[in-house]
Amino acid sequence: MADLTDRFGTEVFSEAVMKKWLPKDVYKKMVATIEEGKALDIDVANAVAHAMKEWALLHGATHYAHWFQPLSGITSEKHDSFLEPVHDGTAITKFSGKELIQAEPDASSFPNGGLRATFEARGYTAWDPTSPAFIKDEVLCIPTAFCSYTGEALDKKTPLLRSMTALDKAAKRVLAYFGKDPKRVVTNVGNEQEYFLIKKEAYRKRRDLVITGRTLFGAAPCKGQELEEHYFGAIRPTVSAYMKDLDDELWALGIPAKTKHNEVAPCQHELAPVYSEANQAIDNNLVTMEKMKLIASRHDLVCLLHEKPFEGINGSGKHNNWSIGSESENLLDPGDTPADNLQFVVFLTSVIAAVDEYAELLRASVASAGNDHRLGANEAPPAIISIFLGDALTEVVEKIVDGEASVHAKHGVLDLGSDILPKLRQDNTDRNRTSPFAFTGNKFEFRALGSEANPSDANMVLDCAVAKTLNDFSAAMEGVSEDDFEERALEFCKQSLTAHRRVLFDGNGYSDEWPVEAEKRGLPNLHTTADALPAFAADKAVELFSSLGVLSKVEVLSRYEVKLEKYNKLLNIEATTMIREARRTYRPVITAYATKVAKGLEAIRAAGAEAAMQCEQNTLNKLCNGITDINDSIKALDAVHQKAEGTEDAQEQANVYAHEVVPAMETLRTAVDSMEELVAADYWPVPTYDDILFYV
Ligand code: ADP
Ligand code: MG
Repeated sequence: MADLTDRFGTEVFSEAVMKKWLPKDVYKKMVATIEEGKALDIDVANAVAHAMKEWALLHGATHYAHWFQPLSGITSEKHDSFLEPVHDGTAITKFSGKELIQAEPDASSFPNGGLRATFEARGYTAWDPTSPAFIKDEVLCIPTAFCSYTGEALDKKTPLLRSMTALDKAAKRVLAYFGKDPKRVVTNVGNEQEYFLIKKEAYRKRRDLVITGRTLFGAAPCKGQELEEHYFGAIRPTVSAYMKDLDDELWALGIPAKTKHNEVAPCQHELAPVYSEANQAIDNNLVTMEKMKLIASRHDLVCLLHEKPFEGINGSGKHNNWSIGSESENLLDPGDTPADNLQFVVFLTSVIAAVDEYAELLRASVASAGNDHRLGANEAPPAIISIFLGDALTEVVEKIVDGEASVHAKHGVLDLGSDILPKLRQDNTDRNRTSPFAFTGNKFEFRALGSEANPSDANMVLDCAVAKTLNDFSAAMEGVSEDDFEERALEFCKQSLTAHRRVLFDGNGYSDEWPVEAEKRGLPNLHTTADALPAFAADKAVELFSSLGVLSKVEVLSRYEVKLEKYNKLLNIEATTMIREARRTYRPVITAYATKVAKGLEAIRAAGAEAAMQCEQNTLNKLCNGITDINDSIKALDAVHQKAEGTEDAQEQANVYAHEVVPAMETLRTAVDSMEELVAADYWPVPTYDDILFYV
């Protein structure tokens, strides 16, 4: 297996590479920066830059790029070559510490939600030394944060890093009560990435897929996922070759791709890496998505990351496995030693309280036009945010709420009246796929993220919410004597769990009863992005983010604006594509086929074959009715689309899109799709679901 391990991380300027390439003192300072966030002085930066350049050149790189995550889109990069011409017509290579630490991309074209006037194009990218640089396509990519010169964050990484700092501080404050003083507390994340893989040939013939990433039309295939034969099924050779290629490239980039398998829907697959620190895990996920698309192209395939490429079969999500840990322990691991019980309960309580208190914000953090098709569609968790704990942990919570738990004099020992801990271990395998936020043994799995999402948003919100509730705990414990601490801590948990237990739900999230029950409990159920986004701009969100130093009010509002704008633009593109396709691609073909049937009918009549006439006449009638339906639906969609485009206020515009345009799109789709079943196959202008989803 030497070969396999040798390949890992060959394209990464990792700590191991640094150790080899950097002078000892420089290496030490670099590690202190990575592990403790200590500032780097320019001499150290110069030494690191030099080593990075030499290493990168040796690995075939010609350029470097500050690689960042703008507010919309996934990642951005601008390449600068290492070459520096000299007056005598030759050139040298150059890369300074200054160039490593900071760059100034002309940023006027990136969405900023009003943070910078367009004429003030200057923004700068700043090196994030906690995520290693890597070589991608002969470019040394340096992970960076992107800010304006007035200091506002213009990207998704900066607030994520700030939220991790907030959580680090909050968790340490809590741990201090338990007599612990870890170096750092971080969140660990593992993103399970779902995707579809289809033939390029079919893709190219579907303008809706090319333009919007999803099919806007298409009747259900003869066979969908009902036979349940695809999930974990043998991987077909075309796909297997692709997956091997992908694994290889990811491993070289130090991305620990671990698990790959077929997913529920035909053509759907999943890749999961081994978890790592959130910030790095997210960078890795973004590179993974990029590689998934690029490598597909080499195999004459197309990778679809859209949340709902095909109607009627499952869409794609991205399970965000999340835990909090110090260098010595996973704080969400109940452990085997009852002595740690109370500490675990405090962290568990804080997560429960956070998810309940900020349910709307968490919902907003996963809101996107694509994800609206998924959430609540009996394949993904509903838009209602709730927590699944499993039987054993639910029992723990109930005992605490009912006052049946007590703490013994010995530090932190929690008596629950029965031996629950061994059961907790068994519960690790407990699965409830319908829950958006599930406890899975020693981590929570936030399952509502869309497949195409940058997971920074959801993690940033989650970290902030939990930092806040951990701080609430610490504030309540202030001034409490050591002797009283356990009692008071348990009492705090009891009160908090009593207040927030409504968010706990272990039942079937897909059932019709759950939304009714959730409403009774007062849990929000925000169906669309338009309904969900206002929570992001609400005072409560601003207060949360600004009090933790994660986002200022203007930074919050700018993100809300960018999200709204993106939603509106996407819907505009979808509606435009739909109307155009219906008018120019589908209707003419249906009309042509109706004409053929009509001519056939004449011929049959002339031949006196009366018996055959009724059937053809019925078909013709249906086709003519269909054309009328399509015409009416186009008109109706056109009208609401124009209304949306004429609406000035972005939130109101989003409301029109969500509640008027989307339903009108569905009506038009139904009208066209019902014709697909009638029109002769050789007339149909595009590959059908049967053609796209089943290939060898
Ligand atoms: P599944 O949920 O499909 O059963 P796994 O249990 O294998 O999948 O885990 C899925 C993801 O969770 C993987 O990326 C894995 O590395 C990650 N994971 C495992 N433990 C933790 C943890 N303590 N914190 C964060 N992520 C974790
Ligand atoms: Mg999972």
